[in-house]
Amino acid sequence: MKLVVIGAVAAGTSAAAKASRNDPELDIVIYERDQDISYSGCGLPYYIGGEVEDMDALTPRDPSFFKEKYNINIKVRHEVQSIDHQSKEVTVKNLDTGDTFTDHYDQLVLATGASPFVPPLEGVDQSHVFTLRNPNDARSIVDFINQHRPKSAVIVGTGFIGLEMLENLYANDIDVTVVEKMPQITPNLDEDMAEYLEELITNKGFRILKDATITHVEQDHVKLEDSPDIDAELVIVATGVRPNTQLASNMGVELGETKAIKVDERMQTNLEDVYACGDCIETFLSINHQPVFRPLGSTANKTGRIAGDALTGGSSRYQGNLGTGIYQLFDLTIANTGLTEKAAIESGYDVVVADLTKANKPRYLGGEKMRIKAVADRHSRQILGAQIIGKEGVDKRIDVFVTLISYMAKVEDLFHLDLAYAPPYSNAKDPVHFIGMIFE
Ligand code: FAD
Repeated sequence: MKLVVIGAVAAGTSAAAKASRNDPELDIVIYERDQDISYSGCGLPYYIGGEVEDMDALTPRDPSFFKEKYNINIKVRHEVQSIDHQSKEVTVKNLDTGDTFTDHYDQLVLATGASPFVPPLEGVDQSHVFTLRNPNDARSIVDFINQHRPKSAVIVGTGFIGLEMLENLYANDIDVTVVEKMPQITPNLDEDMAEYLEELITNKGFRILKDATITHVEQDHVKLEDSPDIDAELVIVATGVRPNTQLASNMGVELGETKAIKVDERMQTNLEDVYACGDCIETFLSINHQPVFRPLGSTANKTGRIAGDALTGGSSRYQGNLGTGIYQLFDLTIANTGLTEKAAIESGYDVVVADLTKANKPRYLGGEKMRIKAVADRHSRQILGAQIIGKEGVDKRIDVFVTLISYMAKVEDLFHLDLAYAPPYSNAKDPVHFIGMIFE
């Protein structure tokens, strides 16, 4: 039996490794068009900022690791160009030699990931304009900074990658302006939380322009509609990603309403023996089963493992996600899980909200304020979502909410949680308890 996997980053290698563990006799090959595999894309901003000094730390595994540990053959710089599911054949191009050949599969995993979406701005194809997706992008940005020593940069977009890049370009002594087309920053937060975050960022002296549309990218500045030009010797476009679905749709794989690949809870597509996982698939919110496109490493690893298990006869089933996200911005941590107030209303819930700012631990041990906004359903009292902005301890509070929401806890459960307490970590009444106390 032969398994062919396309893509060797988070999802593809997870799928292949799990399949090999379940069935060591399986003949597995992964085709990857890039030269880097199984890397931590999430660490790339910190390589650009210099906190991670060596790219090898983010790309710790090479094909020989997978060959020795799992007997998986990874062919890098090999691009799958088409798939014929009638004859179960992939056509592959060796990007180094230019040779093209076909390979047979019994089962196929599409782990083709996602690619940055670049808006059609005039001048965006110049050599000082970058996206950040893979190690090569990060190397190119670092090379550019080392060669040209830019003094100014514009980041387009205020998702987590754009804001992580704000911190890491600043670490290179670059004066950064962040430009956002929408009237609010960070689409994963409600407007009030986004405004709070914006205030914290601008209080640190950074410029964020909202409602701002770039019309041209020039050599050392960008032009905007209705605003003065902004100096930009370097431009980072961080305006989201789109799933890589071309191969899939050409072979007859169905896409979902988010335009990513539609899979069942075993990661199987509409075609027998064809599975998909990672950033190329549509998942669903566990709260209300709404289809979503949530391209995150956490989900890519999970769905990859499920695909590898399912295709070798295992019983793993995907249970959905909460769109949970977290990122660092200087001394701040920003996190969200589940539905925002806006999303909950749009999904038809009658919503109650609790919003407070409390210290994460006693002031005498350096406690700092943390703002939590939680959303629940007025009738069932079920907790639907939370957004947290603070310094220390945001990560553990958001994971408390993740767990509560996953097990359909109610507002009244919050106060009764027996959370760990000692002064270095929290107050006797934690901000999470307080949220439970102030819900209507
Ligand atoms: P990808 O990483 O996109 O890999 C797909 C691979 O398939 C690519 O290497 C591509 O070259 C290959 N491929 C595509 N088509 C073909 C073809 N025809 N033939 C051969 N090969 C092909 N997620 C988090 O959860 N937390 C974070 O903090 C976080 N931070 C991030 C920061 C940055 C800067 C970036 C870029 C991403 C971050 N992510 C984060 C997202 C995370 O990196 C991705 O969700 C994850 O890499 C997805 O893995 P994947 O294997 O599904 O897809």
